[in-house]
This record gives sequence, structure tokens and C-alpha cells, in this order.
Amino acid sequence: MIEQEMDFENRIVSPEYTYSDEETELSLRPKTLSEYVGQTKAKENLSIYIKAALKRRETLDHVLLYGPPGLGKTTLASIIAREMGVNLRVTSGPAIEKQGDLVAILTSLNEGDVLFIDEIHRLPRTVEEILYPAMEDFSLDIILGKGPSARSIRLDVPHFTLVGATTRSGQLTAPLRDRFGVLLRLELYTPEQLGEIVRRSAGILNIPIDLDGSLEIASRSRGTPRIANRLLKRVRDIAEIEYDGAITEEVASSALKRFEIDELGLDDFDRKMLGTIINIYGGGPVGLDTLSAAVGEEAITIEDVYEPYLMQIGFLTRTPRGRCVTKLAYEHLGIKCNCNCVSEQQSLFNAEE
Ligand code: ADP
Repeated sequence: MIEQEMDFENRIVSPEYTYSDEETELSLRPKTLSEYVGQTKAKENLSIYIKAALKRRETLDHVLLYGPPGLGKTTLASIIAREMGVNLRVTSGPAIEKQGDLVAILTSLNEGDVLFIDEIHRLPRTVEEILYPAMEDFSLDIILGKGPSARSIRLDVPHFTLVGATTRSGQLTAPLRDRFGVLLRLELYTPEQLGEIVRRSAGILNIPIDLDGSLEIASRSRGTPRIANRLLKRVRDIAEIEYDGAITEEVASSALKRFEIDELGLDDFDRKMLGTIINIYGGGPVGLDTLSAAVGEEAITIEDVYEPYLMQIGFLTRTPRGRCVTKLAYEHLGIKCNCNCVSEQQSLFNAEE
């Protein structure tokens, strides 16, 4: 039998933006800080900084948002612009290839605007360098010409707030990171918070859902609002075709079982990755690159997309010698544990980020 290739692009529990999110992502996006569920610490800090900047009639200090995909970084950037009463310009690190691209964006901003750069760690180094004076003094140093006749001119740009988003702040160069006045780390959401997000989204999309139905979807959403909203829409399809349209615990549970998402939100890929560490590497430790080759997924994707949740639920640990599967994961997968790694893991449990 030919083993079927796993379709990672269309993975239903992927926290990354996919084509299927397009139709609703905008309408479901909270517009104010008070509509934005969870992230209490980040929200409280931001609210104070916004009020203070408005009171002083100044632009807000540059903000760096970091955390796994789908947790609400883009949403927060648009809320900042709205609460400050300014326009939002959205771009991303890989989209700005040359210095000229960034110069064009900066010179076309209006006074006070928010510039959101997603995946800011992927900004080319030459582009990053012209961002430094822009962030610090709102000016650009542009070199005209080449060779001995080259000369540098200084250009003023409007005062703006840069909101940078990255899946990890560690990948940012120190000079860039130091130029952000506000650093906010977004955390994975609790099932209760995700339940609130699911009920809010169901209200906007006119989907009847009860409390238990929302919590059932929430508990399988890997701490991530984007996944919760996607699961809600998929469960709605089943509820409409096979039930009376309303989402209850039973409807949600049977629909998600059909998508092969278990009660903790793990799908085939998670089971394959944990199973590989267990069956081939005796539970670990196994290095990230070795694991990446064994499961056929890029190391950076494993680190940014799959691991945060598996670590949060205590199934995987990062030790100095590599990744280890914990006893909890063995129990969940119904595999008998007879490896040495577990005791080492328990003592090092989540010791390292
Ligand atoms: P990121 O930029 O971190 O990848 P987004 O800001 O694009 O994530 O959020 C993805 C989706 O999740 C949004 O469309 C929004 O509907 C939802 N979402 C994110 N954070 C929240 C939140 N705190 N409250 C309600 N919905 C949220």
C-alpha cells in the first residue's frame, strides 16, 4: 500500500494563516482592546502606553510583539492604530527586499501612522540598517551615486510607530530589538479564553452554539484563536449537514473526531512526530535537525509551529541534548514507557525555552 503524503499546507490545526481563513479573518478580528480576549498583561500595558501617548499628543513608542503564529499580533497592531486614531500600513519582512522599498513606504506615511511589519526578523540586513535612524530620529540617510562621487543626504520622515511582529524575539538582531520601547510577549490562550473567542465568533457568524460546544472546540484549538475560529467553521458545516445546525458538545466532539483531531487538539502530524521520537530515538533526546529530517518538516516550522503547544501541555521538553518526549505523552498515545529519558526530562522540565 502506498502511504498517503500528509498535507501540511492544509493541516486543519495549523496556526498559520491559510486560504480557508481568508473569508472570515477580517470580520472576526476584534476592533478594540476591550473586545480583544485574554493577554491581560500585554493589554494592560498597552492600554496605559496608548493613553499616555494620547495625553501627551505624541506618537506611541515602537512596539515589538512576539509569540507563536495565530495568537493575535496583526489584530493587536490594527487595534493600536484604531485606538491611537491613525492609519495602519501593513507589510512584512520578506516583502521588503531593497532599501528603496522601505524608503518608499516610510516617506508615504502620514504623521502618527502605525507601520506594521510582520515577520520582522526576516528583514534583509541592508534594509534593517536604514530602519535604525528612521526609528530613532525619524530620518533616513540615503546614499546617492556610487564610488568617489557618492554623497549622503538626510531625509526627514513623518513621526510613526513601528509595530514589529515575530515568532521569536531571539532571532532579531540586538540593534533592532533595542530600538523598540515596548516589548510584549503573547502567550498561548487558555481553553476558557478560547471558549469566549469561539462564542464571540459564533455570534458574528450567526452560528448557534452552547457553552459546552464552545468549550469542546476551545479545548482542541492548541491555545490559538486562529485555529479555534477555523475549527468553529468546520464544525458548523457538519452541524448544518448532519444535525439541526446547532453546535453542542456532542456535535463538536463527533465532528472533530472525524477530522482526526483528538481531545487535546493533536493531529496526525503531532502523533507522527511524538511517535518518531519514541519509536526511533527511544523517547529522546534527539536533535532538532535529526528530527526534522526524520519527519520531513523544516526545523524552523517544528520549532515555531508545532513545539510551543506540545511543550505547553507538557508532552515535549527541550533539554540541552535535544528534544524528549515525556511520560504524559506516552500515556496519551497509549505506549508503554520504558526509556531512561523521562526522569531526566522531569528534572529539566521546561527548564529551557
Ligand atoms: P497573528 O498575527 O499573531 O498570526 P492574527 O492577529 O492574524 O494572528 O489573529 C488570527 C485570528 O485570530 C484573527 O482573525 C482574530 O479573529 C483571532 N484572534 C486573535 N487574537 C484574538 C483575541 N485576543 N480575541 C479574539 N480573537 C482573536
